[in-house]
Amino acid sequence: MGKRPRGGGTIWIGIDDTDSPRGGCTTWVLTELLRLGREEGVDLLGEPRLVRLNPNIPWKTRGNAALAARFGHGRGPRRKVGEVAGRTIWSYAEGGPLPEAEGRRFREAAWARVLAGARTGERGTDPALVAIDHRLPAEGYWRAVREVVAVGQVRRLLDEHGAWYRTRGSRRGLIGAAAAIAWPGRRVTWELIAYRTAERVGRERSVDAASVRAAARRYSSLFLCDDPRTRRLLVAPHTDCPILFGLRSTRRSPLPAARERVRSEPVDRWVVFRTNQASGDHLVDRAWAETAPFSSARFRATVRDWPTAGAGGHVRIPLFDPLGHPVDAIAFEPTKTLPRVVASLIPGDRALVWGSRGTDPVLRLEGIRLVRLLPRQARTRPPRCADCGRSTSSLGKGRGFRCPGCRRRFPPEAATRAATPPRFPVGEYHPTPSARRHLALRAPESAETRATESF
Ligand code: ATP
Repeated sequence: MGKRPRGGGTIWIGIDDTDSPRGGCTTWVLTELLRLGREEGVDLLGEPRLVRLNPNIPWKTRGNAALAARFGHGRGPRRKVGEVAGRTIWSYAEGGPLPEAEGRRFREAAWARVLAGARTGERGTDPALVAIDHRLPAEGYWRAVREVVAVGQVRRLLDEHGAWYRTRGSRRGLIGAAAAIAWPGRRVTWELIAYRTAERVGRERSVDAASVRAAARRYSSLFLCDDPRTRRLLVAPHTDCPILFGLRSTRRSPLPAARERVRSEPVDRWVVFRTNQASGDHLVDRAWAETAPFSSARFRATVRDWPTAGAGGHVRIPLFDPLGHPVDAIAFEPTKTLPRVVASLIPGDRALVWGSRGTDPVLRLEGIRLVRLLPRQARTRPPRCADCGRSTSSLGKGRGFRCPGCRRRFPPEAATRAATPPRFPVGEYHPTPSARRHLALRAPESAETRATESF
């Protein structure tokens, strides 16, 4: 276990990995810590943080979320950021330290709440809590959102900084708990999460889609509320977790009023979180050849060969990265926009592409900006032999074709012309809202509208 924090001070608490694929939710556990604060007379300083980490981590449960909040004795003006267990959660912009004994009691009680709220004992639940009297260096966040981090590295950092920590299982939860405290919190959006009453968890959710759409029309800062193309409501999860709905916004202030416009089953509690969602923080500008497994990149690419449509509507396209290394990119069907845009490209076209990889080196596209398009021409294919029906082979550019069966020759003009795919103008294209990752760069409204209009 780590050392005790130095002296008394305000206290940062980071938590992670309290849930399993069968249920639970680390954001809900954080609301329990806010409740504990109210019970113990310990105030929330600043906003609770919901921090998404590397989206390519294979052992994440769902959205790779970690949570943090800072506590102390609040001073000066305060703002309402939620309601938990019938009490208002206030956020103070400033605060003084907790006396040392009080800080010790609070972190022990917080760990007990984490254990009570965690799905401990279920596979893949390795809860952790980090308590520290200062924010950890931002570098810890950048590594956790962009790379695969080893737990030993994080423990060494926590020890160097005199953090107090507790963990169960694989101890992996420490990675997220520490990263949530290290997040600089500058490129931000907000999410108001409303939770279900305990007896309803596991039953079908009741959230009125029309009221969500009306709220989104009324407050233009809300985003990813629904997907007009797939007609899916995006605010409510489909798992057995206690979340009823989450409203994402580029501004904090409209969220409480927007929540009141959503008609739904009873809301047990709600909290507004400061988040790194839609920040694109996971993307690094680098060549694909320099991108390690389970990480993401954005780079200028040149189309190397014709795209091919595969099973399920996915489209694969061979590219060169800026260092001239070949890379195959795949645009998945659920993103709707991307396969159609990619299918329209021809060798020599230039684009800025971004996306992620797992162990295999294929680039899974998350977005594309078409930069320079060559004049379109229909793609030609060798014709079928008019005598025996077999596919002919090319004899080289401008030299025609020959049937491998009967050896009959055909002139270059005999080539079959493939249908020309629809054109997409130079510009930026993002996945349809229902296929976007939490961290995905927020699509500018104009690009989104254009993509919708094109189909
Ligand atoms: P939910 O979104 O529902 O809260 P989750 O997707 O956040 O679930 P977790 O149960 O938190 O999934 O599991 C993710 C695990 O991966 C945590 O233990 C976390 O500490 C760890 N982790 C997060 N980022 C990294 C990283 N960059 N490298 C290694 N491990 C990481």
